[in-house]
Amino acid sequence: MSTTKTVSEFATAALRAQHVARGVAETHPFFVARAEGTRVWDTEGREYLDFIGGIGVLNTGHRHPRVVEAVKRQLDTLMHTCFQVASYDGYVELAARLNALVAGGPNKTLLLSTGVEATENAVKIARAFTSRPGVIAFNGAFHGRTLMGLSLTASSTGYKQNFGPFASEVYHTPFPYEYRGVSSAEALKALQYVFDARVMPSQVACIIIEPQLGEGGFVPAPVQFMRELRRVCTAHGIVLIIDEIQTGFGRTGKMWAYEHYGIEPDLVTMAKSLGGGLPLSAVVGKAAIMDAPTPGGLGGTYAGNPVACAAALAVLDVFENEHVLAQAERQAATTAAALQALARQHPQIGDVRGLGAMMAIEIVKPADLSPDMASAGKIVDLARLRGLLLLKSGTAKNVIRLLPPLTTPPDELTRGLDILAGACREVFA
Ligand code: PMP
Repeated sequence: MSTTKTVSEFATAALRAQHVARGVAETHPFFVARAEGTRVWDTEGREYLDFIGGIGVLNTGHRHPRVVEAVKRQLDTLMHTCFQVASYDGYVELAARLNALVAGGPNKTLLLSTGVEATENAVKIARAFTSRPGVIAFNGAFHGRTLMGLSLTASSTGYKQNFGPFASEVYHTPFPYEYRGVSSAEALKALQYVFDARVMPSQVACIIIEPQLGEGGFVPAPVQFMRELRRVCTAHGIVLIIDEIQTGFGRTGKMWAYEHYGIEPDLVTMAKSLGGGLPLSAVVGKAAIMDAPTPGGLGGTYAGNPVACAAALAVLDVFENEHVLAQAERQAATTAAALQALARQHPQIGDVRGLGAMMAIEIVKPADLSPDMASAGKIVDLARLRGLLLLKSGTAKNVIRLLPPLTTPPDELTRGLDILAGACREVFA
């Protein structure tokens, strides 16, 4: 198969700069021609291993053949009605399958298009259910870029800029981040302070949390913390929303990251790898909560589009037929061993962390362990020149996170990890 395709004259940096709003950042300065599995090719014919996976969208890889096949089949029959206007089977089938995948049923599902719509709707549903206004989120959180999403997001002011005023009745509290000195006990004390000083628990509709911060630096919440959070929510009638948008679909070695904690969520938000590359998101959770809004309160023109639903059903089939969770565990073991070996060689790697295959290294200045964004950037740039795509994370952008497809063949995974190791050696020399 050819490694290039004919691309139009618009694939240039100059025309991008001329025609596209500059607020849309550019991590890697090239244009993509095509992609398959874990590999992408740029318009110059250069091949890369993709350890970004569209930021967690491609746990089953670029253009998985089963997903492509399902999408093509769907295109031949129905592309759109708007589900509120006229129902179609794919939406209902997907809802049934997602309901069965989330603990604590009976569950119900709402389908949407983007991750942040799942955030918005989970908050709407929690407010409708509790008739309370308050929403608690965590420092370091990323829940999206719309008004409520951005109001909840607290991982970087680069996202918030001068876009305020933000939504009211949103309260932030520290996320437990041991490496940066915030213990579980301290984070719980801070939450109690929010209840004592800022908003009564009886006024709080929901607490929303990523079990492992994504944009905030790949920091997993400690088991003790998540269990206590569950207990607090139950005690006060607060809806616990688990944001699995980046952690979900096997990334952490289990279908959902909350499974690492032995807790049941009230609502789960999911997106990214759900659609296998097409825009699709969902809120899934306890039927009594999901049914709080009355008819007309939920929906969206494109929400749960038939083509995206067909893709998602194929993604779920791939998880079952290709044992993607087992592949994730193997990826996690290989990655953890490689990153830990690397950290033993380089004091600049201050921390190696993550649940399952959602792993990252935190790059620091060894003298005082302060974040070293510049070195992290150099590693990412050098890795690209050697054929590996990486993405940073964290408020200080000094964390290098790995999100390769979980279906990455072992030799490609090892090759990518070797490129990362080589780039670290050169940058730290
Ligand atoms: N929540 C989390 C945890 C995310 O990682 C993201 C996207 N990075 C979102 C919400 C928002 O998703 P979207 O960009 O699809 O709106």
